[in-house]
Amino acid sequence: MAGMTAPKGTFDILPPDSARFLAVRDTLTAPLRRAGYGYIEAPAFEATEVFSRGVGESTDVVTKEMYTFTDRGGRSLTLRPELTAGLMRAFIEHRLYDGALPVKLWSVGSAFRYERPQAGRYRHFTQVDCEALGVDDPALDAEVVALGVQGFRDLGLTDFELLLTSLGDATDRPAYREKLVAHLAKLDLDEETRQRAQINPLRVLDDKRPEVQAQLDDAPLMVDHLSDSTRAHYDAVRQHLTDLGVRWTEAPRLVRGLDYYTKTTFEFVHHGLGAQSAIGGGGRYDGLSAALGGPDLSGIGYAVGVDRTLLAVAAEGLDIGTTAAVQAFVVPLGAEAKRLAVRLVGQLREAGVAADTVYGDRGLKGAMKAADRSGASHVLVVGERDLAEGVGQLKDLRTGEQTAVPVADLFDTVRAAVGS
Ligand code: AMP
Repeated sequence: MAGMTAPKGTFDILPPDSARFLAVRDTLTAPLRRAGYGYIEAPAFEATEVFSRGVGESTDVVTKEMYTFTDRGGRSLTLRPELTAGLMRAFIEHRLYDGALPVKLWSVGSAFRYERPQAGRYRHFTQVDCEALGVDDPALDAEVVALGVQGFRDLGLTDFELLLTSLGDATDRPAYREKLVAHLAKLDLDEETRQRAQINPLRVLDDKRPEVQAQLDDAPLMVDHLSDSTRAHYDAVRQHLTDLGVRWTEAPRLVRGLDYYTKTTFEFVHHGLGAQSAIGGGGRYDGLSAALGGPDLSGIGYAVGVDRTLLAVAAEGLDIGTTAAVQAFVVPLGAEAKRLAVRLVGQLREAGVAADTVYGDRGLKGAMKAADRSGASHVLVVGERDLAEGVGQLKDLRTGEQTAVPVADLFDTVRAAVGS
């Protein structure tokens, strides 16, 4: 059989790079944990209609990108293309709204989209998700946005930008949409774009082609057609963001690939990433709960792409997640020393010291190479002659200093040396 490879558009995350991936993932979720968000885990697949109803029938995600299959019981299931719809399904199913509101949740996990693979765009990727459900309060919008910003700041990222707008709500959007459709109908657009203008006119505003953009200069914008209440909501969000020290750029043409957004809508972009510059995005989705058969409750949240954030971290040359995994490395020479090494490593690990040793007969040279590769600051060599004298040789690799340590003191001495 020919060698097997990972499916197109997917990749394996291998050590040592995987340490960086974990560090990014955990740093992005830390602000949520600190802010009282509870961890939720929903399945990686759902009934297909959770997404077709939740994400929106006319979106690219639903029409072109879902991994949908029929299981052996004849059910139509879909691998989640994003996390929000499934979390909302769980929120409704378990009546979490019966408790205190808002319900604040976070999650992290795989998402799947059948997209054209390119740098930063994959068919399997990881998202960190934040959701605050059941309360329509601009201060909550600001909290959610600020938590997203905090994750990037904690990673040390600086070259990112928050794009912000309001997409109106169920009362002011239809009237605006009509105006936009009428405007777009007067333009010189190709047939496909004309059709899109009918189905999803906001998407046309986001068309990157210069010949389309050139015609959009005086297209009506949602932010200029907000009702008094959505305008007041948006003003309050911006006031709170200012108070929280969060800067943003007004992005009146920002549209998102998922249909459920209302009012506050935002995207985080990174300037070192080329075409796939969005590292996260989100907004308010006041119609989603009802669309999924739940009560008419509001929600706001975001999804941040871990893989793309990792690319952003690399683009800024940040050193993250590269701390040595192993502190102490034991090199035994001979059978008796081997027993001592295995026992000592076990004891050190039990005491919380990251310790390792060699396996297989590698000889002193190979073992020292392994010790070096492990990143350990201290190496303990236990040779046959040392053992006969009742000592081991502890070497501090940073200073080169070596000391003979009595066997009975090895555990305490190594532990003290690595500072645990
Ligand atoms: P979205 O749900 O499309 O707003 O995506 C939220 C975030 O997930 C984006 O800002 C990206 O960082 C990430 N993301 C979305 N699609 C992909 C993909 N195909 N590959 C990698 N990351 C993605």
